[in-house]
Amino acid sequence: EAPGKRLGYAIVGLGQFALNQIIPSFAESKSSKLVALVSGNRDKALQVAERYGVQQKNIYDYQSFDRIADNDEIDIVYIILPNALHAEYTVRAFKAGKHVLCEKPMAVTAEECETMIRAGREADRKLMIAYRAQYEPYNMEAIRMAREGELGKIRLVTSDHGRILDPKVPADQWRMVKALAGGGSLYDIGIYSLQAARYITGEEPVEVSAHISSDTSDPRFREIEELVAFQLRFPSGALASLTSSYSTSPVKRIQVFGSKASLVLDPATEYERHQMMVKTEKEERRVQSPEGNQFAAEMDHMAKAVLEKREPKTPGEEGLRDIRIMQAVYRAAQEGRPVSL
Ligand code: NDP
Repeated sequence: EAPGKRLGYAIVGLGQFALNQIIPSFAESKSSKLVALVSGNRDKALQVAERYGVQQKNIYDYQSFDRIADNDEIDIVYIILPNALHAEYTVRAFKAGKHVLCEKPMAVTAEECETMIRAGREADRKLMIAYRAQYEPYNMEAIRMAREGELGKIRLVTSDHGRILDPKVPADQWRMVKALAGGGSLYDIGIYSLQAARYITGEEPVEVSAHISSDTSDPRFREIEELVAFQLRFPSGALASLTSSYSTSPVKRIQVFGSKASLVLDPATEYERHQMMVKTEKEERRVQSPEGNQFAAEMDHMAKAVLEKREPKTPGEEGLRDIRIMQAVYRAAQEGRPVSL
């Protein structure tokens, strides 16, 4: 392919995240361009199309979605819908012959994830899960330091992700409905704590124990869980202690404790303005990385994977692993005992 080639993206679901983070980030991408929109709200889609130079003929709704098969401008479909809709739209996009970038969590069940992976294989198309932190410079630097032994032997990872679910915010309304969200704070933000433990250690957990607490008198938590505290044991003997919350002030923190040094990334998984400190017995220093647009980097990674015919760094299998572990977290909490993976 010619250098500088840009692949065309169709964005499915014009919600908060698509409108505020993803669509504006095409301006900073090198290999990606916005060419199509899929929305249930025609007026909103027309406004977005006008603002970002998308042709009217490239606007679809959920019924006409399958007609993207006839549109050669669309290479990649980026699914930014409520979690329970990820599997259906991924499969339909593959049937239309497109590659798929899908938001986290990948789907609701492991079976759905397996169906998505199989559909991609059958269509001979790429599937990537939008784990943006793995394309964000501070997290990438933390991973490098951990992997290259700069912190010594990694023994412990702690990570906390929380925010206050607000029923007045439209984007939080489907998050309170189990049939659309699939799970509660764990599926939505605890997944970042889980990801951190896995990408920092570079290991897969062998055992999980967990506690869940939800104030069921609070209408927000009738269907989905509020607080999760869970622990993972890794083959090396390293441990992770992780939390997620839907009812406490915002936190997005990762701490890594090695035999030589510890690292604090706080905020760790913000959209920008990350801060990282490394501490040893003798000194404490701030580590600076150039802030990059993680959303543009993520979309370009997917476009490059397609252009160069290689697997993306965060393929469907990566999404499936997290769903399996989160399901084990629910089981461990429910049964009140550790669950082996
Ligand atoms: P929003 O509710 O803001 O957006 C979801 C959009 O999906 C809606 O605006 C709507 O778009 C469309 N939609 C289709 N069917 C439904 C339905 N039955 N109920 C509600 N919406 C529907 O949610 P978010 O943008 O916050 O989240 C969307 C996805 O992105 C989730 O999977 C979430 O986990 C993920 N996300 C990821 C983030 C990250 O940092 N990686 C951050 C935030 C979210 P339309 O009106 O155009 O049809």
